[in-house]
Amino acid sequence: MLILLISDLHLQPERPALTEAFLRFLDERALKAQQLYLLGDLFEYWAGDDDLSAPFHQQIVAALRRVSDAGVQVSWIAGNRDFLVGSGFAEACGLTLLPETWVIEAGGQRIVLLHGDAQCTADVKYMEFRAQVRQPAWQQQFLSMPLAQRKQIIAGLREKSKEGHAEKSYEIMDVTPAAIADVFAQTGTSVMIHGHTHRPALHVVDGKRRYVLPDWEPEASPPRGGWIAIADDGAITRHALDGAVLP
Ligand code: MN
Repeated sequence: MLILLISDLHLQPERPALTEAFLRFLDERALKAQQLYLLGDLFEYWAGDDDLSAPFHQQIVAALRRVSDAGVQVSWIAGNRDFLVGSGFAEACGLTLLPETWVIEAGGQRIVLLHGDAQCTADVKYMEFRAQVRQPAWQQQFLSMPLAQRKQIIAGLREKSKEGHAEKSYEIMDVTPAAIADVFAQTGTSVMIHGHTHRPALHVVDGKRRYVLPDWEPEASPPRGGWIAIADDGAITRHALDGAVLP
């Protein structure tokens, strides 16, 4: 049993080299696995499942469909960019939508999976925004607007987010130790895998291991990206974009 996990690709039609790297990962790596977990922000943004017919989305959906059709179990946890993905997308891809915190068992250990944005509790403004947009009523109202209008609003938010990031300190853009301790306590786990922060690492605190997935920027030099693998025996390894095992 091989389990692969990725997050924070931020796929968008304006970055063809990124799409190519993702498609290569699916063909060369994911097809050889038994399970693939997408832990959020696969897309730079998702305006609603009625945008599925866009050629770029069709390309990504078809690629994920090839993987699920081959018998790989594909699962999805939403990120802060693509939380509007719904059952239409899931059905088209043949993947399963999971709640925001999910515990798996592998090699006799329990591992908690999540995106990581909900644990950035020092960012009070973001936490308020998140509380609002994760409400079903808010989402229903937003999705009732014309697609073009939704895209316009999202474009505005992305601009504001870019400006905001320049103002926010390095610390509040990361998860807080207390929020991480809460997840471990609530799930009774001692191993966690998440993304969101774009700070790939393995942190070991009080005997608990926290793996942070990388964001993907294969266009950068050196290229950024990669995945985490869980082998049959429960061994967890971090991999660079070229497959090299990281310490
Ligand atoms: Mn994120």
